[in-house]
Amino acid sequence: MPTLELVKKSTGFLLKYGHVRLGLDTGIKNETTLLSHSHADHIGRLDIAHRVIATQGTFDTLEARNGRADCKRTVLHYGDSTGQLGVIITAFDAGHVLGSTMFHMEFDDDLSILYTGDFNVEDSLVHKAAQAVKADVLITEATYGSPEWIFPKREETYFQILKTAQDEIARGKIPVFQAYSLGKAQEAIALLEYRDIPVVSGNGTIDTVNDAYNKHGAGLNAVSIRSGEAIDNLDEGCAIVSSSPAHTFTNIRKILGSELAREVRNRAVTYSLSGWTLGGYRGKGFPLSAHTDFPHLIEFAKKVDPRIAYVFTGNAGVLASHLHEEGITAVPLE
Ligand SMILES: [Zn+2]
Repeated sequence: MPTLELVKKSTGFLLKYGHVRLGLDTGIKNETTLLSHSHADHIGRLDIAHRVIATQGTFDTLEARNGRADCKRTVLHYGDSTGQLGVIITAFDAGHVLGSTMFHMEFDDDLSILYTGDFNVEDSLVHKAAQAVKADVLITEATYGSPEWIFPKREETYFQILKTAQDEIARGKIPVFQAYSLGKAQEAIALLEYRDIPVVSGNGTIDTVNDAYNKHGAGLNAVSIRSGEAIDNLDEGCAIVSSSPAHTFTNIRKILGSELAREVRNRAVTYSLSGWTLGGYRGKGFPLSAHTDFPHLIEFAKKVDPRIAYVFTGNAGVLASHLHEEGITAVPLE
């Protein structure tokens, strides 16, 4: 049996097995890349890739954020397969952002590998939960792969966010929810609109990503800060969703004038939407995460039931040692 090699390259890895070479979330010269999603820390060197395999959602959100993949493209739907000599590649929903994908690879000698990218095993208002797929080798993220990271139930977090938004608006304030422009911002908008809270989108990137989500049926109605309607909403009571409040306030001053900008800034109360708020790393806010927490990373790995797990990102070493305790041989990649 050939040896499996995983070599760190740019924002991902070069996978080598027999004569098969694949880029996982990074472009590799003259090779094919499996692109799990379009967050900035997964799209390095796509300019040199020969071909990118991804979902239409990933290509759409990549373009919405001014990313490029000018090479050959293969669009996969969840459950569909493609391949090249020596390997069949199947896409599964990773539950992280629009289009996010786990790739299941089956090699000619029957070795199977599951690469998760970033993933989330909980349903959200806009994304469907990732489901484990059995594989001989698991290559998994470990962003929250340490035991202190246990997220509350999403429904509870949703409830707290909505209550805070309604309370702040009732006392004449403008709740500003700071969230990544791809994924979390759209979840926040869908949540606020679920309770009929008008939402102003605070950044142009959120607007273009919203368009990509709406193309895929999300039905988001957030008003752009660049539109006239935003003034009425800010006047009558609304929430702002922003990936950068400082940038949003600058936009408001440029577009709507310094008087209104001053008033909005005085009424604004900012809350961060991130798993990291649990540890106090992102200031005041709510632990709404697009990733899997520690107990569910372990549970997911057990369901995949691999002979070996390779673990990447922040808490890779910690997660690998805990997987060992669960009887899964695990190797941190970083
Ligand atoms: Zn991501």
